[in-house]
Amino acid sequence: MQPQIVLLKEGTDTSQGKPQLVSNINACQSIVDAVRTTLGPRGMDKLIVDAQGKATISNDGATIMKLLEIVHPAAKTLVDIAKSQDAEVGDGTTSVVLLAGEFLKQVKPFVEEGVHPRVVIKAIRKALQLCMDKINEMAVRIEKQSKSEQRALLEKCAATAMSSKLIHQQKDFFSKIVVDAVLSLDELLPLNMIGIKKVTGGSLEESQLVSGVAFKKTFSYAGFEMAPKAYEKCKIALLNIELELKAERDNAEIRVNNVKEYQKVVDAEWQILYNKLAKIHESGANVVLSKLPIGDVATQYFADRNIFCAGRVPEEDLKRTMKACGGAVMTTANDINANVLGLCDHFEERQVGGERFNLFQGCPNAKTSTLILRGGAEQFLEETERSLHDAIMIVRRTIKHDSVVAGGGAIEMELSKLLRDYSRTIAGKEQLLIAAIAKGLEIIPRQLCDNAGFDATNILNKLRQKHAQGGQWFGVDITKEDISDNFEQCVWEPSIIKINALTAAAEAACMILSVDETIKSPKAGEAPMAGGPMGMGRGMGRPM
Ligand code: ADP
Ligand code: MG
Repeated sequence: MQPQIVLLKEGTDTSQGKPQLVSNINACQSIVDAVRTTLGPRGMDKLIVDAQGKATISNDGATIMKLLEIVHPAAKTLVDIAKSQDAEVGDGTTSVVLLAGEFLKQVKPFVEEGVHPRVVIKAIRKALQLCMDKINEMAVRIEKQSKSEQRALLEKCAATAMSSKLIHQQKDFFSKIVVDAVLSLDELLPLNMIGIKKVTGGSLEESQLVSGVAFKKTFSYAGFEMAPKAYEKCKIALLNIELELKAERDNAEIRVNNVKEYQKVVDAEWQILYNKLAKIHESGANVVLSKLPIGDVATQYFADRNIFCAGRVPEEDLKRTMKACGGAVMTTANDINANVLGLCDHFEERQVGGERFNLFQGCPNAKTSTLILRGGAEQFLEETERSLHDAIMIVRRTIKHDSVVAGGGAIEMELSKLLRDYSRTIAGKEQLLIAAIAKGLEIIPRQLCDNAGFDATNILNKLRQKHAQGGQWFGVDITKEDISDNFEQCVWEPSIIKINALTAAAEAACMILSVDETIKSPKAGEAPMAGGPMGMGRGMGRPM
């Protein structure tokens, strides 16, 4: 009998070798199955209820993956690539998961038959390289000559990004809004300069784009009604000062022994507040915004002097106002003067649905805009916001990279054909592997068909034939249940989405293939049961 060697702590779970690899691949497969049906214009949405009972309806791959709370260590890789795709380009999050899963599925038989994972990884890397070169070669650059051409291009890309979302029926309406919003930004296209506000009620078409800053009216005290609600050419004081009586009381301890002295303290408090208010008034501001509360006395004071005020303005809104209107956020009232005030052409408080909004338009400085979304249920608005976020990211990416490819599976079919042709020119295992990856790429058009209820085999056959004849932009036509030239159909996507999605998918597949052993330490607290004080349990040379 051989003595057993104890290497790891009792309770450690290890598995290794081929079975481990195959089991990791299977785990990834089940994740792919969870998001598979959300792909494309006819994709379905998922309703996910988390531990707190909060329901989310979404079509966005990254959002779904995040909410799934996956615990399988290998399968988590897929969550990460979805997240990275979301952060990098904003769209294509379902595609990236699907591609990674399908690459793994296609090479699984080879792994099972004993092909070394390193060989498989090498083949995937080679295939990826070929695909990258081809995309860069095929991508159509749109020259930035005319503004109207660029606009048309951007609207098409935004529409394609939105066509797979809940709001696809309003995609023409929203693609204009999204493009307007992004074009209003300055060259760096900072995402946080587009504010998105949601107001439940009304219909989606009542959503509007405010070129400037808008935020919900904050809590206000009596006296507020008397302040004017609209100004032309207004001067805005941005404050981080509490304009309330109690403010000073917290900061000091005072002992008094008669009422007169107490009265002095109270008077002093009022005086301090009035001094602050007077300073603000003297600066010439006619709108006062503060991050901290503005109390009833201050509200009344401002109202008497025709000044509009709002306290407890959310920090991000205050910052956006500062960037848009200029000026500076002041933390003391002493230095307030005309130079630190922001300017804007037009301020008003307007009713939007059941909410009142403060709108600042015609801001001279940085460029910013705010989308006010209207719509029914809250979950619906949240999904709308996520969809618009995708579209905004896509438009930004397209402005930066301005090259597009056709979507609807067209580019994937062309890459698949390229790889198949290439595989015929080489010999050995690599030939089979590259051909398998070529097959893997077909998952995108296949799933688009499946989700729309089309006969996928039939349509894929037609597509293969067309691509063999040189129709490089042919893809699935969702409206006609057929194939069509998706470049002419204007199903355009920035090439960067595809480049990023393929790279990330290939990387993830390689990573999962290169893991052949998982060692899981026992959880703390789950102490080994048997084996005495040393906690050695079985082992120690004892036969099993
Ligand atoms: P992702 O999270 O990967 O962006 P989507 O659900 O947005 O997933 O689906 C994107 C896929 O749908 C892309 O492959 C895109 O080419 C395709 N697609 C989008 N609009 C159309 C359309 N009008 N016709 C055909 N395919 C389309
Ligand atoms: Mg999308």
